[in-house]
Amino acid sequence: MFLVAVTVLVNVVAITDARADEVPPAIAPNRGGIVLTFDDRNFDDWVKAIPLFDEFGVKATFFISGKIDGPAVEAIRKLKDHGHAIGSHSVHHLKAVEYCQEKSPEEFLRHEIQPQLKEFEAADAMPTSFAYPMSRNDAVTDETLLKVFRHLRTGKNVADGERVCDVDAFFVAANSISQHGCLYAKGIDYAPTRADRTYEQIDAALTRAAKRNEIIVLYAHRICDTKPAGGHFVTPEALTRVFSKAQELNLPFCTFDQLP
Ligand SMILES: [Zn+2]
Repeated sequence: MFLVAVTVLVNVVAITDARADEVPPAIAPNRGGIVLTFDDRNFDDWVKAIPLFDEFGVKATFFISGKIDGPAVEAIRKLKDHGHAIGSHSVHHLKAVEYCQEKSPEEFLRHEIQPQLKEFEAADAMPTSFAYPMSRNDAVTDETLLKVFRHLRTGKNVADGERVCDVDAFFVAANSISQHGCLYAKGIDYAPTRADRTYEQIDAALTRAAKRNEIIVLYAHRICDTKPAGGHFVTPEALTRVFSKAQELNLPFCTFDQLP
């Protein structure tokens, strides 16, 4: 009788573990992948896009700015339930470089990072990564923030006529990702209507990542069909196009939490 009870208990534990483990394991260390990210507080768009992400098994990272209040907590719960990760995008969405120069790195941590981390912790969503507002970073801000986060995300512009797949800064060998604290991300808002983010550009970049086993980070903001009154956006159609290409290339999506 005792043995039966133990067996049942073990089975229950195993099943519970399997459910808790629904987030895919960390990426294979030698395999390329896409880290798809979204910024700010576009909770309604993001939650609405969950079925699209699920359709393609895409796990993304959402960098939230501002207070982790009721609407933020609700969105975090829904996104996390579907395997997505949450990152910090600071309290007031200020330029980190300028803030650290005018005040100090310590003050930046005290006022722009720590209050939000406390709220994230209360929401059971402690972030491992941080995205720079307006991609404003330098060596000082990187050093400061890497004491708190495993990875940072900044951005980088592409010069006219330049091919994204030729910009080495966007690509990091998967097996060396743990040595790259700050990663350069490529914006995909307005894809495919801008020269640096046509489908041809994106396809070539994803193909490079797949062929060379590199990680590429992409970022966008809102997810909607037409240009909203405020904010940058990517359409569900463009995301579907990117997801299909990734599938064709057998290039997996991973979250910042899954990066070593
Ligand atoms: Zn932002």
